Formats: sequence, structure tokens, C-alpha cells
Amino acid sequence: MEKQVLLEVNNLKKHFFLGKGEILKAVDGITFKIYKGETFGIVGESGCGKSTAGRTIIGLYDRTEGEVLFKGKNVHQLTEKEKFAFRRQMQMIFQDPYASLNPRSTVREIISEPMEVHGIYKNKKEQLERVYQLLEDVGLNRDHANRYPHEFSGGQRQRIGIARALALDPEFIIADEPISALDVSVQAQVVNLLKRLQKEKGLTYLFIAHDLSMVKQISDRIGVMYLGHLVELTASSQLYKNPLHPYTQALLSAIPIPDPDIEDKRERIILKGELPSPVNPPSGCVFRTRCQHAMDVCARQKPSWIEVDSNHYVACHLYDRKLTGVHNASQATVLK
Ligand code: SF4
Repeated sequence: MEKQVLLEVNNLKKHFFLGKGEILKAVDGITFKIYKGETFGIVGESGCGKSTAGRTIIGLYDRTEGEVLFKGKNVHQLTEKEKFAFRRQMQMIFQDPYASLNPRSTVREIISEPMEVHGIYKNKKEQLERVYQLLEDVGLNRDHANRYPHEFSGGQRQRIGIARALALDPEFIIADEPISALDVSVQAQVVNLLKRLQKEKGLTYLFIAHDLSMVKQISDRIGVMYLGHLVELTASSQLYKNPLHPYTQALLSAIPIPDPDIEDKRERIILKGELPSPVNPPSGCVFRTRCQHAMDVCARQKPSWIEVDSNHYVACHLYDRKLTGVHNASQATVLK
């Protein structure tokens, strides 16, 4: 069966104008598609623009250039009426469950608020039943409905945030670092919950994170972002088996492997220097100031987006066949 495209992001840019002619290029031309029912992960260091990308896709920020199409409709050109309907279909889970829940509202009020704004239930009893159902869906129970956010642990608060995101029965959820603020022991539980809900409700996710090991657990495909650009995109398994971009290789080499024999023999790639400022990004390839393979051409020319193997894309001159003669990913591995 042919995969159905739910979201299409074309050359999306989000620049912030800081005054005195300075421009912060938080997102600088990213392109990808998300298919119905999949989880698309975006990963990168903090400051790479991944959260800004998420917020621009859902329309919290206007875009500077490019387009976001949800079911073929341009998210940034919706009428007020269309926006209202769109908000029911796309929801967001935020990083910080402490800050994203109103401390003065009960859990019942927090979860039922979107239903009231959208006038879903005329009958209060039905609405309350729906709140109870959502609490059970996320592993809480009806006794939690009359409590306040401060009475819960971090993991439970994130479950409340997920219940609120589900209140309008959306098709698509942007999860912006939903587990980063949680204890490691709780992270896997929340990831498993998201996976279960996806199966039960047929959800599609954009999962944003800085931790590649966790993104792997949930994503079907992953896009790696660096300084506002996508540098690599492929299936999750392929990215881990055969990472091509020097930045992806460095990120992966930092993940510990539980087998001490393999771990001892592994070479860790230490990235030199800090992430450059998106106000003044390097010329050519934005990664060149930290890349151990940088060549002269990397400072002069922005690398193209190349499909090195089937559905495996990378932006790096090492894989430009005109420069290196490399024609596929297996040949490309010799360059690592
Ligand atoms: Fe490194 Fe050049 Fe590839 Fe950029 S284009 S990642 S600087 S080799």
C-alpha cells in the first residue's frame, strides 16, 4: 500500500531579526515529509533549531520562507476558521511538564480546557467521562482528576500533558523533547506510553530530541539537524548501521554500548569547538569548523542534499560523486 504523506515541509526557514542588521537563522531551509502513522525523529544538539522547527510547523511561529503543508494545506495560510479546525488535528507535547501545566488548575480543568474551547461536548458529564478515559489511556486514574500539577511526579505530569494533547483526538503530535526533563528511569516509560498510544489511536509523531539513543527507540526515520540545517535523513536502523555525515558519526560515537568488549575498542569522535552562532554561521558547510574531514571546498560551497542510497540522504561533500567518485553508501563507508 502506498504511504500517505501527512506533512510536507519544503525549504522551511525561520529567521529572527535581532536589530542592528543581525539575523538569527534558527531554521535555514529544511525539507522532509512525514507519512501517516510513522514517527519521524529530529535530533541535534541544543541550539540546532529543532524546537524552533517544531513550533514553526505547528504555526506557533510564522515562517520566514518555505512552506508547511498538512494534508496538502499550507499551515501558514489558513483562514481563522481553518486554523480552528487545524488545531484539533495537530497538537504539541512540551519539554517541561512543570512549566506547561497551569499550577492553579486541576487536572480535570487542564485536560477539559481544549474540549471547552472547541465546544466538543454539550454535556458536562460526557466531558468528565472523556477526561477519565484520557487519564486511564495515559496510565493515570480518575482519582487524579481533582488534584493539582504540583501533587504529581515529573513522569506523571508529562502523562497529564499527553492526555491534554490527546483531548481533541488529533492525528498528528509534535513531541518537543518530551522526555529530556525526566529521570532516566521514567524516560523509557513515557516512550513506551507514546508508542502504545500511537498503535491504539493511529497517531503520527514528530519526535524532537537531543538524545539519539532515545530517538532510536521510537522513530521510524530520523533527520539529523545541525545549525538550522538537516545534514542527514534516513530510516532509524540505517542511521545506526551506517551513519554517513561526520556529525551523525560523532553523535553516535558518544552513545555508550553496554558490551564492554565493543565499548573498549570503539573510537569516540570528540567534536572540536562549540556550536557556532546561528547569527554568524560558517560559510559553505555549516559543520566545517568542527569537522575532522573538512576540505577547501567545504568553506566555499554549501553541500547539496544527496540521495547516497535508497532513501538515505546526506548533505556532505564527501559523498558528492563529482568530487569523490563515491556512488553509494557502501562505498561511502570507506570514507569514515
Ligand atoms: Fe565535513 Fe566538508 Fe562534509 Fe561539511 S561538507 S561535513 S565540512 S566533509
